[in-house]
Amino acid sequence: MNRHVPPHVAAAEAREADGLGCTDVTPIKQRGQHEVFCGLTSIIWLHRKVQDAFFLIVGSRTCAHLMQSAAGVMIFAEPRFGTAIIDDRDLSGMADMNEELDKVVARLIARRPDIRMLVLVGSCPSEVIKLDLGRAAMKLNERFAPDLRVLSYSGSGIETTFTQGEDNFLQAVIGGTPRAAPDAPRQLLVAGCLADVIEDQFTRIFHGLGIENVHFLPARHAEGVPPIGPNTTVLMAQPYLTETAKMLEKKGARVLTAPFPLGEEGTTAWLRAAADAFDVPADRFAAITGAGRERARKAVSLYRDRLAGKRVFFFPDSQMEPSLARFLSREVDAEILEVGTPYLNKTHMAPDLALLPSSVRLAEGQDVDKQIDRVRADDPDLIICGMGLGNPFEAEGRTTKWSIEFAFTPIQGYEQAGDLAELFARPLGRRDLLQVEV
Ligand code: SF4
Repeated sequence: MNRHVPPHVAAAEAREADGLGCTDVTPIKQRGQHEVFCGLTSIIWLHRKVQDAFFLIVGSRTCAHLMQSAAGVMIFAEPRFGTAIIDDRDLSGMADMNEELDKVVARLIARRPDIRMLVLVGSCPSEVIKLDLGRAAMKLNERFAPDLRVLSYSGSGIETTFTQGEDNFLQAVIGGTPRAAPDAPRQLLVAGCLADVIEDQFTRIFHGLGIENVHFLPARHAEGVPPIGPNTTVLMAQPYLTETAKMLEKKGARVLTAPFPLGEEGTTAWLRAAADAFDVPADRFAAITGAGRERARKAVSLYRDRLAGKRVFFFPDSQMEPSLARFLSREVDAEILEVGTPYLNKTHMAPDLALLPSSVRLAEGQDVDKQIDRVRADDPDLIICGMGLGNPFEAEGRTTKWSIEFAFTPIQGYEQAGDLAELFARPLGRRDLLQVEV
């Protein structure tokens, strides 16, 4: 009897057979109109993470409105970010921008003496008028050190995507970090912003594995980043930190590559990379991770029926797309049609790409109109896309999920694997509920 093999299962079998997944697939590269948020958006999770930092955006009213609405801040709250507005007087050269900025910073520091790290964040307007925020930060540092550390980075939306804001911020943080002494004790540095609850879970696991000297980047406090050097082994927690990884390597650190910690399989492979680097015995690894793996598998299985065989299309947005697609393909048997990503770092993404079927279409960059044409031709069950595309697709009767939710929601690690599956399953469930029989 002929065996009926659904397309997603056939693809998975092909992947197992060749072992390369889509590592060697040549991505479609298109440049055109792209629909992504700018790097300022990453301040929303960064300011929550670094609890004694203040992010001062030097930008326009548009930048201020973006942040106000995206972060949902109430006007009577004391958030740890704000915007120094560049107005007409600044643009016309009637006011000295550096003097104006000094005044804003002095007022801010007087009002918020608890701030230990001030981050000047550049925007499109500050870049267009060529305001040198690096120099401004240097001068402010001379004035306020050692009580306050002043950094700067660009969150501009010109040719960038929103997760690059974090990449730029982390480079600014480690740029001023001292080099570790040659005989410094060995340490693990987990690079990439994780919710505190996830950081705590991973810390417990690393300690259980016998890896005691663990640090996270960004740290919860301005002073929390250790000296970095050849004693440092880096485990990347987020896939969008290409430049940060390069800078860490320049400081002598060793950067591990592994699938990113999404789902049971990804989390286990990610932890194993660290365990191997620190020579943790296999039986100890199995004992420490066993219960978490089991809980993750169980939690994900609750959503498998809803997601198995569903045809999914990813628009480029957060750079997390290959890892998310790998989770969907491997752990709930979804069929992945296209994985778009703003930038594809083939070195960092190789372990995730190897676990994707070679039938997956990869796309790097964006020409949004051509991509919309491909969506219409594919007619997927679920589209993962930016907010600007979601509503128009829903109006066409398609089912969508905003990709930014994967950046805002804690999804890494064993205990969050079920939540990750649920994020994908929720719009499909909503669509089923809204189906009206005629
Ligand atoms: Fe808009 Fe640029 Fe400001 Fe971002 S930085 S809100 S893209 S003007």
